[in-house]
Amino acid sequence: DGDGAAVVAAVEAVAERIERERDHLTELDSAIGDADHGGNMARGWAAAAEAARDLDDPDPQTVGKTVGKTLMSKVGGASGPLFGGSLVFASAELDDGIDAESAVAFAETYLQKVEDRGDARLGDQTMVDALTPAVHTFKKSIETDELPPLEALAKAVDAADRGVAFTVPIRARKGRASYLGWRSVGHQDPGATSTLYILEELLSVAA
Ligand code: ADP
Ligand code: MG
Ligand code: MG
Repeated sequence: DGDGAAVVAAVEAVAERIERERDHLTELDSAIGDADHGGNMARGWAAAAEAARDLDDPDPQTVGKTVGKTLMSKVGGASGPLFGGSLVFASAELDDGIDAESAVAFAETYLQKVEDRGDARLGDQTMVDALTPAVHTFKKSIETDELPPLEALAKAVDAADRGVAFTVPIRARKGRASYLGWRSVGHQDPGATSTLYILEELLSVAA
């Protein structure tokens, strides 16, 4: 399956990027958390890339589910179940392969699962702040503006980038950073940042 192979390549690109950003993600998490986000994500994505590579001629749904399950068991922390569990669930939308329509359904389901599991909303200084503008921009670019999927993804990445910047001046209301209260203001959220890196790699592999 050609699409499955492309998804495996995307997972490998994400794993390499997360490994390169490991120290930066850990630095961000040391300011408002427990300094493990870089290590959590690097461990999880390395295992996910290995599991994806080991699949025999997989389809996109199988790759997504395998990666999600691996992230659930290997990332740990608060973010593991959010990244991993949501990916397992959203991958069901890819059962007929990847096209503009299924990609939008995948993105919306993923965001909805992150919100359901983490109970965070836009403005709580979490990964939701990168994800929400990205998913809404992707959907609008495809469905309303009728842009090609690649251009829609590029706009979604820009939106996620602005979402990451938006986490800096606001106060954390979910996750470890929320224990700091107002002292979380002025810090960039690690999970929003890693979410942006993942989207950037999806774009660069798709381009
Ligand atoms: P932990 O906080 O358990 O050490 P990580 O450091 O791996 O886990 O991940 C921290 C990131 O997880 C945060 O930066 C934030 O983006 C995200 N996060 C934490 N709690 C929630 C939540 N309830 N909803 C959404 N995202 C969350
Ligand atoms: Mg942490
Ligand atoms: Mg932790």
